[in-house]
Amino acid sequence: MRICIQYCKNCGAEYKWQASGSNWEVDRTYNDHEYCPECKKAIIEALVKIPKKSELKWILTDLIDFDTLLEWEKLENQEVQERYEEKLKTEEIVLPPMKRVFASLWDTETNQHSRSFMVKGREEHKNKVFMGFYWPKDEDKEKKITVFIRQDMKGNLIKYEKE
Ligand SMILES: [Zn+2]
Repeated sequence: MRICIQYCKNCGAEYKWQASGSNWEVDRTYNDHEYCPECKKAIIEALVKIPKKSELKWILTDLIDFDTLLEWEKLENQEVQERYEEKLKTEEIVLPPMKRVFASLWDTETNQHSRSFMVKGREEHKNKVFMGFYWPKDEDKEKKITVFIRQDMKGNLIKYEKE
């Protein structure tokens, strides 16, 4: 757990901000790295009165099929690797290629894990980001593709979002 002493951006009060940890030493509701609990409370109370107009969401999609998504992931990985090798030629310190990983599920009946992965869209889906979910050892088990969007409060698509 990391506790920092901060000065509030609005009123200048000294306060404790909890930067990490799962046991809360401060009131979690008003824990903020810029505002003291009193100001944070005022902000929350003011904002809660304003109705939401849109929200970000991952929704199921059939814009592309699963094989395409896996193919795009392979291409993306190759490009990351190529960029890394290119950098190695000119720069002294290069971080190895890194990828975000997602928690998987474990099926205790069949002893296998699921896999989730994120892929940037290509071709006519260039400005979208997709998530794939599947069971690598079982072709017939559930597969899912989701896409990141902004939608209005009635659930209508406003636009596709990048992560
Ligand atoms: Zn304050």
